[in-house]
Amino acid sequence: MKKTLKIFCALLLVAVVVNLTACRKKADTDLLEKVEEKGKIKAGVKYDSKPFGFMDADQKLKGFDVDLVKEIAKRLLGDENAVDFQQVTSSNRIFALNSGTVDVVAATMTVNKKRKKVIDFSNPYYIAGQAIMVPKNSDIHSISDLSGKKIIVVLGSTSEKNIKTLVPEAIIGGFRTYTDAFSAIRSRRGDALTTDDTIIAGFLSEDSNFKMLKERYTQEPYALGFKKSKTTKKFQAAINAIIEDMKADGTLENIRKKWMAQFE
Ligand code: GLU
Repeated sequence: MKKTLKIFCALLLVAVVVNLTACRKKADTDLLEKVEEKGKIKAGVKYDSKPFGFMDADQKLKGFDVDLVKEIAKRLLGDENAVDFQQVTSSNRIFALNSGTVDVVAATMTVNKKRKKVIDFSNPYYIAGQAIMVPKNSDIHSISDLSGKKIIVVLGSTSEKNIKTLVPEAIIGGFRTYTDAFSAIRSRRGDALTTDDTIIAGFLSEDSNFKMLKERYTQEPYALGFKKSKTTKKFQAAINAIIEDMKADGTLENIRKKWMAQFE
């Protein structure tokens, strides 16, 4: 090999090694440090789950989860607008965390054992319950009337899984978003819809042709989700401390009242 070629190859090798080390360093960077350095939190929220995360008629993102993240940004970074909100759905929110698209998910997300295996959670900040919604003139009055009926669910939600156990004889129609699921029940492509009472209440506030059945089938403690990694531990601890402060000083209760008191 010519001498110049040898030198070129050696330099190339050095460049590759330096680059790989830099990449590894970047991936290993502590999330809290990264967020503080950038001065922004990338947060995944729902855009169609009123009153927790929804795009209002004025094209502004609003809701309990949105306010919660803004308050966290205010306490962590000194600015409630230091948030880059991104839309997530029930089926893509875990991927959004693990791929690094978002730093945190605040999306009506229930903590449970299965999810705890793949992501980490904050302390809970609200407890919802699974409910069933039907058209007002429906002959479905309780879960026992659902056998053989078509039930609409959102894919990746706890309700999707639970209803299969609760009513094994039901026909399940799965949709990717709440927008699609609600549009399906509106056009009667199903006999009932099941999800959290919070999201049903938000929908009923806009459409009086439906009603929510009284029973609740589960407890759904909502918590913020994080990527399971040692790089996110300090970020998680900082947010948990903020949530606990918000519980102690009444801020969380004020956010709850603002969004949920009208439905409770
Ligand atoms: N809280 C439930 C869940 O985490 C239902 C609401 C949702 O689809 O986000 O699956």
